[in-house]
Amino acid sequence: MLRAIACLSLLAALALPLQAAEILPHGAKASAPKSNGGKGLVEPKLTVPRGGDVTRVALTFDACMGKTDLRILDTLISENIPATLFVTARWLKHNPQALARITARPDLFELENHGENHIPAVDRPVTIYGIPAAGSPEAVAKEVQNGAAAIRAATGLESHWFRGATARYSPSSIAAIRAMGFEIGGYSVNGDGGSLLGAREAEKHIASAKDGDVVIAHINQPTHAAGDGVVKGILKLKARGVHFVRLQDAPPSPPGN
Ligand SMILES: [Zn+2]
Repeated sequence: MLRAIACLSLLAALALPLQAAEILPHGAKASAPKSNGGKGLVEPKLTVPRGGDVTRVALTFDACMGKTDLRILDTLISENIPATLFVTARWLKHNPQALARITARPDLFELENHGENHIPAVDRPVTIYGIPAAGSPEAVAKEVQNGAAAIRAATGLESHWFRGATARYSPSSIAAIRAMGFEIGGYSVNGDGGSLLGAREAEKHIASAKDGDVVIAHINQPTHAAGDGVVKGILKLKARGVHFVRLQDAPPSPPGN
């Protein structure tokens, strides 16, 4: 349970200032990582190019382990809302029915890498929210590569983005993950506070998404109140006319953006 609730920082800011932006494939944009605490760990921000006339938002969901929140999955499918799902090997193994529904809708869902065993991708021995990090470059590589291998084995799909457990990294692990061919799946709006927010708060966080935001929430905690708010927040965004994009479909940034 501790691992499940520690997916990301409750303290993560809703909108960190964008600094030294860097253009990524598909036009997504990452800021220079924000230093987090005294341990030298960073939590990168990610945005997609603004839509301008339309508000463009990328919804991303983590499937850390455990089960599937059908409140969220059913809504995405019935409302035809595209999303990027970061899944672990552990989640894939235990959720074949949900996976079948997800892979049946390649027009809606992009599957990306959340690691093998939901171990923070930090290459030195630290503990984050009570979770021991991978602890070495070799263990980070194993977490990343076995996560990608599990997606490939289950679906035949190649993943291109990696988001580590807790969404925190050391600068050297970020460099190593990129060298393995993955971009870092940051975010700009913390939608559900690691799935621990109340329904009203989660709804408010998600509904606050603005043009270019990348929202993170969880799709693996069906018993948590946050999921109700996540659904309501998504429906509010849709009612506002938000155009939802997946990370793989984010259009190129306009010149100078
Ligand atoms: Zn997670």
